Amino acid sequence: MISEFPILRLGLFVGMLVLMFGIETFWPARSWFDRRSDRVKFSAGLAIVNNLFMRIFIAAPFIAFAGWVDSQGWGLSKLLGINGILEVLLTIVLFDFFDALKHKWFHRVYIMWRFHRVHHTDKSLDILTALRYHPGELLISAFIKAGWILIWGPSALAFTIFEIVLNFSSEFHHANIHLGKFDKYLNKVIVTPRYHAIHHTINREKGDQNFTTVFSFWDRLLGTHSCPETTAVDLERLNSLQDKHINLWNVLKSPIIDPNAKGAETKEGDSKSEKEYLNAIYLEACKDIKADRGLLIDVREPSERLKYGAIKGALNYPFKKFDQRVLDEICELSRGKELYIHCQAGVRAQKIIDRINKSGMKAKNLGGYYDCVENGLKELNA
Ligand SMILES: [Zn+2]
Repeated sequence: MISEFPILRLGLFVGMLVLMFGIETFWPARSWFDRRSDRVKFSAGLAIVNNLFMRIFIAAPFIAFAGWVDSQGWGLSKLLGINGILEVLLTIVLFDFFDALKHKWFHRVYIMWRFHRVHHTDKSLDILTALRYHPGELLISAFIKAGWILIWGPSALAFTIFEIVLNFSSEFHHANIHLGKFDKYLNKVIVTPRYHAIHHTINREKGDQNFTTVFSFWDRLLGTHSCPETTAVDLERLNSLQDKHINLWNVLKSPIIDPNAKGAETKEGDSKSEKEYLNAIYLEACKDIKADRGLLIDVREPSERLKYGAIKGALNYPFKKFDQRVLDEICELSRGKELYIHCQAGVRAQKIIDRINKSGMKAKNLGGYYDCVENGLKELNA
């Protein structure tokens, strides 16, 4: 929010926020992993911090700089004599490309990633994710945008319209909504929620795709395009990986002091020890299964087993078909044996464990931290 008409722009931003929040409340594309009331509280806090930061440190100098560039007659648009509606349209299309490039840098340059990571450590993905940026990222962005202004020299009106379009698009594609069959036509040209969800998937290979904000075709040019029709979105893992990035103070200091680093004090407990705990369970599971004292239940769907590989010696009972009959069968098979439940992130496994506990048995969860799961599976399949 660094160009002119701040009140109008804030009004449009809040209006879109309320609209998307309403739609995703009644027709959500995915269920939430965390409580929405907590999300609203966190986002409101961060939005206030960012708004104050923007107003105090960024807005006035940025507008003064853009005005100065304009008065000097600098930039390609002036050089080429482009003005009127064409200048507005070209500014939107070109600056969207610049923005995709900037976003890519935020992923590839480590110090920039430390700030941008805040946006990617959201537990769920919805309209509130569009508010989740570190103020440091806003500051770095302002400096980069100043460079774009110097290169292109847009009019104040064109730049303001671009920023409005950018915000609208960001709110739209972060929303937890689905467009059904229209998505596959729309995502050829613009960034849809399904298209952008790929960017947030925890699989880094896929998370490093689909950077653009307004027009999806820029990703093809940048070689970072991932097709929504063929790429699965695995957001489940967000829940178990990002648990130290949930309180406002932790999030604000996270670019400097990593909440997951050893020795970092957090209210929610130390994640290092959680990782150690999970590693130890894997070791235990390996020993038990090899000595026939343990039973491993894989609750992933067949498509996931095909994609990520099956686990040697595991019994497959997909989560979606897990009913009372399956529970009885497991009860029968597991007599006297330790029970271990596996899914990718540990979320579905935990739901199964809760049911197993109710029936008087005990089971351990083999899901959660990506690197532990990866190493543990290698060990099991050895
Ligand atoms: Zn990103």
